[in-house]
Amino acid sequence: MAKKLCASVCPYCAVGCGFFLEVEGGKATGIEYMLDHPANEGALCPKGNAVLEFLNHEERLRYPQKRVGDEWRRISWDEALDLVAQGLKRTIDVHGPGSVGFLASSRCNNEENYAFQKMARLLGSPNVDNCARLCHSPTVVGLGAVLGTGAMTNNLADLENSGCIFAIGTNFTEAHPVVSRWVQKARDLGAFVIVADPRITSTSWMADIHLRLKPASDIDLLRGMMKVIIDEGLEDRDFITERTVGFEDLKKSLQDYSLEEAAKLTGIPASDIIRAARAYARSPASALLYSMGITQHVCGTDNVKACATLSLICGQIGRPGAGVWPMRGQNNVQGTCDMGAMAEFYPGYRKASDPKSVEFFEGAWKASNLPDGPGLTSTEMTEAALEGSLKAMYIIGEDPIICDANLRKTKRAFEKLDFLVVQEIFMTATAQMADVVLPAAAWAEKDGSYTSMERRVQWIDQAVPAIGDAKEGLWIINQIARRLGLGFDYANASEVLQEINRLVPIYKGMTKGRISVIGGLRWPSPDEMHPGTPILHQGGFSTPDGRARIATVENKPPALVTSPEFPILLMTGRIVVHYNSGSMTRRSPSLLERDPDLYIEISPEDASQMSILEGEMVNVETRNGKTDCKVRITDKVKPGMAFMPFHWQGTNIITSDALDPISKIPEYKVAACRIEALP
Ligand code: SF4
Repeated sequence: MAKKLCASVCPYCAVGCGFFLEVEGGKATGIEYMLDHPANEGALCPKGNAVLEFLNHEERLRYPQKRVGDEWRRISWDEALDLVAQGLKRTIDVHGPGSVGFLASSRCNNEENYAFQKMARLLGSPNVDNCARLCHSPTVVGLGAVLGTGAMTNNLADLENSGCIFAIGTNFTEAHPVVSRWVQKARDLGAFVIVADPRITSTSWMADIHLRLKPASDIDLLRGMMKVIIDEGLEDRDFITERTVGFEDLKKSLQDYSLEEAAKLTGIPASDIIRAARAYARSPASALLYSMGITQHVCGTDNVKACATLSLICGQIGRPGAGVWPMRGQNNVQGTCDMGAMAEFYPGYRKASDPKSVEFFEGAWKASNLPDGPGLTSTEMTEAALEGSLKAMYIIGEDPIICDANLRKTKRAFEKLDFLVVQEIFMTATAQMADVVLPAAAWAEKDGSYTSMERRVQWIDQAVPAIGDAKEGLWIINQIARRLGLGFDYANASEVLQEINRLVPIYKGMTKGRISVIGGLRWPSPDEMHPGTPILHQGGFSTPDGRARIATVENKPPALVTSPEFPILLMTGRIVVHYNSGSMTRRSPSLLERDPDLYIEISPEDASQMSILEGEMVNVETRNGKTDCKVRITDKVKPGMAFMPFHWQGTNIITSDALDPISKIPEYKVAACRIEALP
């Protein structure tokens, strides 16, 4: 049988690696490396290499099901779609449109997410959100406030042009492994690498200086570096004068802040803070990389603003090799936010609170009474369900019953919903709580575009038919919209993209033909001749006056601090072979084999003091709950600290659900705990 090669994009993280799927007899049978892809040059991490293991998995959902008592009953598509439409309509008729929440999927393509948020808003609900809330909402609002655009300013290949790379709050060698290739290339060309992380990680092994800061002291460190830079006159005065506002306020706020204080607050020797500050400021081009170690805090938005401010005062932005690289999480989290599947924004980041945005889309969609916003964020939807004002939810490709912080609370909230629809590829923990489960096509089984962390928009064609009776997300949304009389019924994903081209200015030049080539195009592309934008902010910032807003921020302590009762500070994060809730990676034998169970890393000193042995089972308890896992004893964590990956349900039973008040992200990163050996 003849093999064909279909160009594809990795369905895991937002690096957006390209590869070819080998297709034989309508089935994906292998992978071929795409050597000329600009993000990965043929490389794939273990997850990318294992995509077929979940695509062809025997547990894929193959037909619609409804709950009858404690059992699942197979039903036809007609019955399933009628049930969903009736359930949503009934809830809105009785309780109003604000009683329904819509959770879009950062694993789905732009066209599905665009149609989904349109459906929510045409139904009158402002409550549409996506999992960016849990990873990079501080980037969207924090970078947006400082630079005017909440996205990566440069691209990965451009790291080769950086003389200094400062990675803070990102263990990219595990979370975004292909990024390490670019950092290594820069190192080979002589770049100086600074890594700020409380733990020793495979990323810190790449560092010339490892700043082993205390957890949640990022702003103290960044302020310490800014203090050195300003005191030594290393700031870029011309850049500050010509392209920013707010420098004098920052300078004033640092007047009484000493390097000694920074050293005390962060636990980093003052000499290392000085070395890092000088290296970052003096390099001809410095890159600042960050991820969820920065964002997932009660001060996540301020952390992001402090990162952007450091780059601004040094003029390290808007040039080759100089900029801010937020490492986004899911394969299409950037696109899902661009498409307006977010509580604060209509498509193209038009503020939902601005009457002009509402008016614009009422005209474009020929609709009346569209809701203004902001609507409820995903974290606020949980609270609203718990207190009884949110009655129904429609969730696509997200698994809050594993991914939310303080899971016991989320579970209680979901139990109170009158109606829950989940559209998924596997029977996840969240799907198990649904009234109706709709089987969805996976990424390779449908057409559509994905936007990576580099703002790289890439179209892929359907490579294989959907498994069983699963359907493309767009078909499902169309069918429900038709039953609800919403006035749209797209023929295919290309037709949705054409509407996006018309209504979202940064995507105007992103036509299907132009983004179907290997590597696609990077937004903004404001017309069909525009080649895309590799580096943002070269001429001016995307603020109303073109100037960036230097931010003056102070650190906030974590919500769940240590005490005699909870003496260890627990940190959470990713590991290389797993991904988010693990619904895909824990079904991939080659990945599961490498890390099958939840574990906690503790220091040899703490292990000895608690009389805990390597490999023993322990109970870990925070103020939110407790969970059991295996112990790994390692000097990667300091005494008084611990680390647990978050790809198993046990982790989020105990994480902190305290929210950053601006972005509403939970403080997943840190929570005080106690650890006891199980009898
Ligand atoms: Fe996929 Fe990310 Fe790994 Fe690339 S780095 S193969 S996009 S998971």
